[in-house]
Amino acid sequence: MIDPDAVAWDERGLAPTVVQDATSRRVLMVAWMDRTALAATIASGQAHFWSRSRGELWRKGATSGDTMEVTGLALDCDGDTVLMSVSPAGPACHTGSMSCFDTPDTPTPLGSVLDRLQVVVAARAEQRPKGSYTVELVDAGVDRVARKLLEEAGELAFIAKDRATGRGSQTSVAEEAADLLYHLLVLLQACEVPASAVATVLEERAR
Ligand SMILES: [Zn+2]
Repeated sequence: MIDPDAVAWDERGLAPTVVQDATSRRVLMVAWMDRTALAATIASGQAHFWSRSRGELWRKGATSGDTMEVTGLALDCDGDTVLMSVSPAGPACHTGSMSCFDTPDTPTPLGSVLDRLQVVVAARAEQRPKGSYTVELVDAGVDRVARKLLEEAGELAFIAKDRATGRGSQTSVAEEAADLLYHLLVLLQACEVPASAVATVLEERAR
């Protein structure tokens, strides 16, 4: 976190704030902070900004529900720009894009989607909403989830072979791969292994 007195606020008492996804380090949006917004952010742990158009303090997600949990605040080299690291609850942009810098051609990064999906799986397991397939699976136990994972792996293998012989479509392979990854996240949840532990191993291996 940062000391409000250490910020080189501009003549309007504002500092541009670059908002970054804490996990993927992707730039999500840029907004403005004043002393009040910084204080509110530090006190609540939720991203607050100063709206220049409305002339008021606003909490990100106050109306959309797409809040941002702040995990870090830092200043740049000359102290006039804030870097805010966040775990977003949803899209940063009012257009529904994860980042304000996305265009219709921007590919969706797999890692950030898996991160969000993992948060949803963990929340389902804890809140236990009625009729949830995830809850049903987790309750059935590790053995059942593991069998389901093998089944999904088999389906992917078959569709991949079809694809290799020119019969399967790219979409059908992607759908089976998505099923496999979802069941993998549920298996991790069922064995109480955080997804971040897998990320740590992968990161070491990627070096
Ligand atoms: Zn935007």
